[in-house]
Amino acid sequence: MRPPIIAGNWKMNCLQREAADLAATLRRLLDGLEGVEIVVCPPFTALAPVRAALEGSRIRLGAQDLHWEAKGAFTGEISPAMLKDSGCTHVVLGHSERRHILGETNDMVNKKLKAALANGLTPIVCVGELLEERQMKVTREVVEKHVTRAFDGVSAQDAAGTVVAYEPVWAIGTGLTATPTQAQDVHHFTRNLLTRLYGEATANTIRILYGGSVKPDNIKGLMAEKDIDGALVGGASLQASDFNRIARYKE
Ligand code: PEP
Repeated sequence: MRPPIIAGNWKMNCLQREAADLAATLRRLLDGLEGVEIVVCPPFTALAPVRAALEGSRIRLGAQDLHWEAKGAFTGEISPAMLKDSGCTHVVLGHSERRHILGETNDMVNKKLKAALANGLTPIVCVGELLEERQMKVTREVVEKHVTRAFDGVSAQDAAGTVVAYEPVWAIGTGLTATPTQAQDVHHFTRNLLTRLYGEATANTIRILYGGSVKPDNIKGLMAEKDIDGALVGGASLQASDFNRIARYKE
């Protein structure tokens, strides 16, 4: 059994006070919830106040990116050790906004994944196709490339327990969600790919989240699918009541 994860990607939103308030509200709403792992990923500047607001709670803290080097002349970057030092347990890698707006490559995602693992951070590796790629019916090829390149040189032992997020780019922040059937098709394909790469036992420990306009009214249908192990939630994670309802999809 893979325990489901509901993760919130706050993107470039929330000043420190707002982030602390949101975290405190989520703590009040969600700390008693059993059987679902909750992760919130605020921007770097809000990690400290969110950490303080969540101190001693079950809600985990994640970052939205890292740099693969340990230290040095990398102006503007954040190292894995800095994230650990800030209380992070998780880190989102290869988000489509980084790939498509900031030019992040598969090679960079691979280095980031290895650095996260070497530092004991649980990576949430984002993969997914553009609208044109779906229309050209090359979704599987794109996802295969994202996954195989990200995990290139990563051992089965290290891959076990990692998290992959399938996020069709056309569904992110657009209000368009993949149907449960469309999402399950890609999740199943991804599970088979991970089985080919690492064997069934390891592939079965890797949570595959769905991301792309997840809302309280579509989460249940998505989570009913066999290979959907949770959600990476953007916009709706900024509204405590929506994120609470998403995390409580079983109720
Ligand atoms: C995301 O940022 O990973 C995401 C899925 O955003 P949204 O839920 O707003 O589509």
